Amino acid sequence: MSTPSLLILAGDGIGPEVMVEVRKIIDWFGAKRDLKINVTEDLVGGAAYDKHGVPLTDETMAHAQEVDAVLLGAVGGPAYDDLDFSVKPERGLLRLRKEMDLFANLRPAQCFDALADFSSLKTEIVSGLDIMIVRELTSGVYFGEPRGIMDDNEGGRVGVNTQRYTTDEIRRVARSAFELAKKRNNRVCSMEKANVMESGILWREEVQWVHDNEYPEVELTHMYADNGGMQLVRAPKQFDVIVTDNLFGDMLSDVAAMLTGSLGMLPSASLGVPMANGRPKAMYEPVHGSAPDITGQAKANPCACILSFAMALRYSYDEGAEADRLESAVEKVLADGVRTADLMQAGDTTPASTSEMGDAVIAALDASL
Ligand code: NAD
Repeated sequence: MSTPSLLILAGDGIGPEVMVEVRKIIDWFGAKRDLKINVTEDLVGGAAYDKHGVPLTDETMAHAQEVDAVLLGAVGGPAYDDLDFSVKPERGLLRLRKEMDLFANLRPAQCFDALADFSSLKTEIVSGLDIMIVRELTSGVYFGEPRGIMDDNEGGRVGVNTQRYTTDEIRRVARSAFELAKKRNNRVCSMEKANVMESGILWREEVQWVHDNEYPEVELTHMYADNGGMQLVRAPKQFDVIVTDNLFGDMLSDVAAMLTGSLGMLPSASLGVPMANGRPKAMYEPVHGSAPDITGQAKANPCACILSFAMALRYSYDEGAEADRLESAVEKVLADGVRTADLMQAGDTTPASTSEMGDAVIAALDASL
């Protein structure tokens, strides 16, 4: 295969700050593991608006379609709050997701032992936790028609959104979940509300169909999404891969995020259909936003973005062993007590800066050789 390519869109706020640390790590893999990646950089969000008057140019969009993976920092900030909806920084991100057709959003919830105290749950409930939530990202109630706020013809108004899923939309995201499960612990739990929603009945039937016809070797269970939320905080380690729709996934992945402690630690991936070279269309990004309250203060934790790059190694570049190496390096740094400000606890003294955290990960990578 040709040299893998990566388009970096650092974006706004702390996006560029954490991306500096990821660049160090990409360079490390090039120098020490002979893992060459062809990296290009461009603008997205407010940074693109400032230069071009749009949050994502057509040229950048076209380039994103060609590369093996996109790594995005964060978009948005108070300077752009009053912009017209059509040019808000978030529109750049949504355009990427939509035009790349990134229908499967992967949100791992992994609890590093050194951070188990940070969870709002008891240590024994979260310690060693490693689950993956697969959220359908391009359909469902956030996109379904009809939608809008209308007159109800009785002097009032009515707000309408439509939950709508097709067979194909359900089957393709189910396949993503089953494929992931095969590389993990071979279990998928599908969540919907088949008890009260027809779209939920269809979801359940189609996920079951994909299982029975294509992945009978993977264990499949079904759960109502409200019970799923309860089980996630009661006994999260019962799950391996959870697959669910756009709306329930939005909420359940945020619940799962809090199991692990800090927003500064959470990576994500959004995957689409395989391209001609067999790699899926892919965009990787930390879950956090642009954090305007700490921008420019060297306080940002770069780990979420570093771990997003680890996901790119695993899912776009087929470098699972190197992804393991990078995740272990982050785990070692945390176990050694290196902490950015967001990970400090009572009694901790000076926090590590963004670049000190990045350097500590590099040192741990060196130690792994
Ligand atoms: P946020 O994630 O930017 O920040 C929430 C809190 O977490 C803040 O206190 C912040 O300092 C802290 N935080 C976030 N990431 C951190 C990190 N890596 N290290 C240390 N602390 C971290 O969410 P918000 O404040 O609601 O939104 C700020 C801006 O970001 C808004 O313009 C919003 O629209 C945008 N946003 C963008 C994305 C994205 O680009 N995917 C996601 C969420 C929010």
